Amino acid sequence: MSHKVQLDYISSLIPEEPSPASPGAPTSAEYRYISQPEVEKELGWTKQDADKLFEFAKTMPRIREQSTYGRQKMWTCQSVSHAKEKGNGRGFTSNEPDPKCPKCGSSEVRPAMKHIIGLGSFSISANKRGVQDGVVNPKAKDIASAPEPVLNIAEKLTRLNEDKPINYLSFIFYENENDHINWHQHNEDRCRDATVYIVSMGETRTFGIRRACEQQDAL
Ligand SMILES: [Zn+2]
Repeated sequence: MSHKVQLDYISSLIPEEPSPASPGAPTSAEYRYISQPEVEKELGWTKQDADKLFEFAKTMPRIREQSTYGRQKMWTCQSVSHAKEKGNGRGFTSNEPDPKCPKCGSSEVRPAMKHIIGLGSFSISANKRGVQDGVVNPKAKDIASAPEPVLNIAEKLTRLNEDKPINYLSFIFYENENDHINWHQHNEDRCRDATVYIVSMGETRTFGIRRACEQQDAL
């Protein structure tokens, strides 16, 4: 099932039809949608490769984590006595194992869960985080020791990336039509010449892009 989209997002959505292959390096295009047959032609990325990657992705542990804000865990008050007033939201943060609602004192609270399942990630510089090339995620595994389907896609994407090595692969799982990820940009990519590749498998999902760095461009 495909995700319904809000009207104001439509202008920035990836088109339904794949973009034609450009003869040289893309000039004005900021994104390109490549369908399976085109990927097959351009990269030798076959349906069998895609199926293997999908099978591998399905073996990764699906753990929905509690949402966090900064380093604090997020909770939601469930109490019926929590006053429904403006500015009296039910969400709060706490790292205690059994917190009480700071607004109404109720212990009827539940963890606020993420709307996305991160299956795992692989990095060329695992266990670090920063703004340098390839330094991306403290929990990532080392890409060099990744299973074959992961190395395979990394190698194909590296070729598509004009041989600049893919530094990070993250597997994201949307369990249902409510799962989503909001507009975001990784620190590592902020206003840098960094191409982001999205490989989409399984059900169709809406994907949007928008320009983030005009201010920096003007400086
Ligand atoms: Zn409360």
